[in-house]
Amino acid sequence: MIKIMHRLINMTGRYKGRIRASYITAFLKGLMMKVPLIACFFCISFFMQHTMDKTKCIYLGIAVLVSVILEALFEHISNILQSAAGYMVFADMRLRLGDHLRKLPMGYFTEGNIGKISSVLATDMVFIEENCMGVLSELVTFLISQGIMVTMMFVMDIRLGLLSLLIVGVFVIIGNLMLKATTEHSIIKQEAAESLTEEVLDMAEGIGIIKSYNLLGERSKRLTEEFEKSCRESIRFEVDYTPWSRALYLAFGIGTALVLALSAYLHQTGVISDEYMVGMALFLFDMFVAIKSYYGQMARLTVTDASLDRIEEVFAAEELKDEGKKTFAATDSFGNEIEYDNVSFGYTEKDVLKKVSFAVKQGEMAALVGPSGGGKSTIASLLARFWDVKSGRILVKGKDIREVPLGSLMDQISMVFQRVYLFQDTVYNNIAIGRPNATKEEVMEAAKKARCYDFIMQLPEGFDTVIGEGGASLSGGEQQRISIARCILKDAPIVILDEATASVDADNERAIQEAISELCKNKTLLVIAHRLKTIRDADQILLIADGEIKEQGDHKKLMEQKGTYAHMVELQAAV
Ligand code: ADP
Repeated sequence: MIKIMHRLINMTGRYKGRIRASYITAFLKGLMMKVPLIACFFCISFFMQHTMDKTKCIYLGIAVLVSVILEALFEHISNILQSAAGYMVFADMRLRLGDHLRKLPMGYFTEGNIGKISSVLATDMVFIEENCMGVLSELVTFLISQGIMVTMMFVMDIRLGLLSLLIVGVFVIIGNLMLKATTEHSIIKQEAAESLTEEVLDMAEGIGIIKSYNLLGERSKRLTEEFEKSCRESIRFEVDYTPWSRALYLAFGIGTALVLALSAYLHQTGVISDEYMVGMALFLFDMFVAIKSYYGQMARLTVTDASLDRIEEVFAAEELKDEGKKTFAATDSFGNEIEYDNVSFGYTEKDVLKKVSFAVKQGEMAALVGPSGGGKSTIASLLARFWDVKSGRILVKGKDIREVPLGSLMDQISMVFQRVYLFQDTVYNNIAIGRPNATKEEVMEAAKKARCYDFIMQLPEGFDTVIGEGGASLSGGEQQRISIARCILKDAPIVILDEATASVDADNERAIQEAISELCKNKTLLVIAHRLKTIRDADQILLIADGEIKEQGDHKKLMEQKGTYAHMVELQAAV
């Protein structure tokens, strides 16, 4: 358990000093809390000795008043130091996490880690921030207070000291067994919460499909099962915890009674005086409160270990290396704008791209065609460093893309995906993301070129209309055009285009084609093509299958070869 405290303190980074300072104030607050009891002890002693007078009464009263004020003050300082440090630690950590996620390869997000990230952000961090940081100094205070209590007993009489030490020992054994049982369950409980989060996210994301296939009942059943599992585990956690917490209460009662019995015996035999006996009675119920509270708080912290593990796991995911120092300059002279040189890559051990080599000159268009699953999207993703190549290299303007900072590489590339994502923000901001420092006129101009100006102006608040999450309030074609406006504004020299397969109405289709033509003017293009008609004029067509380039050349050349491409063209023409 000391390990958890150690991990928590380590986590506080540059705020470690503040947290440690809060131990002192929390300890002083603990001492001040004892002052009224001590005053009470003296008060009774004076009465018993018949020495109580007005002056002593006033002094005792002042001592109690001052201690109450100081207690409030120390508590306040301790809270400021500790809770504020807790919030600052997590504000920093969330920013660091954001920065880290930004640098992770795309694979991390597609491999079922979204639930883990949500869990870390929404559950683990919030739990530690709200429950752990605030109790760190309390825990330290409990341990110190218990030490003082036992020492006081030793000062009074060695037998009382040994008995209280023994009782503390029993507390430690029961407490640790309780923590062991609850730790095991808390891990399962957290895992259940994580899989529940994933199921909820999955259901929310796929709600359209779920409804259209009438799977609401089926999916709700799964969700209900997850809720029930989570509830079951939470109850099991309580069931495992309760007997031990009762045992701790029992030990508290029996321990207190034993100390009282021994003190009474020592008083009877004349070892301790009347005043000390009264003092003993006053402090008795405070004797083991510290160690009991320590384990009570610790039991709440058992989930912390698992939460800390998960936070550390997300932070441990390997980032894409972004150490490149080379930059692109307008004066660079280079042969090809894009060059793949013997590129091999696999998402797992198995290679999905095998020694792919091709080059695209500035202003030219390369089209990737071929059967589904052949590797076209993978080729395009590697250019944007969504993943890094396994072997070989990819050059942009003559520079290995791993040798330039990710930021400058992204400045060179615009991507139009089939699946558009618009943020829950104004239309204006959704376009301006393309180049945040663009002027209003430039944003309007991009919207006009992308053929979306007219429909934007018909929206209730024009460019200031807030789009629903994911673009929910616009048609598919309109979303697509806004995403193209973004790219036009960005004006990057290379455009990766994943040609839409989804059929849109004829008007939309024409508008999208016009928008794309605007975007592609004077650009170097890498197009993932599904309809071969649209890429007839491409400078080169690459037929990709099984992760290899099977055929390469312009339309005329490939038709003459009468290979797979020619066959595909004939098939599409026949439809
Ligand atoms: P295409 O774009 O030609 O349809 P892809 O590049 O999407 O082909 O896929 C090539 C291969 O890589 C396929 O076998 C596919 O299953 C696999 N693949 C694609 N994306 C991933 C991914 N994120 N994780 C694991 N395998 C993937």
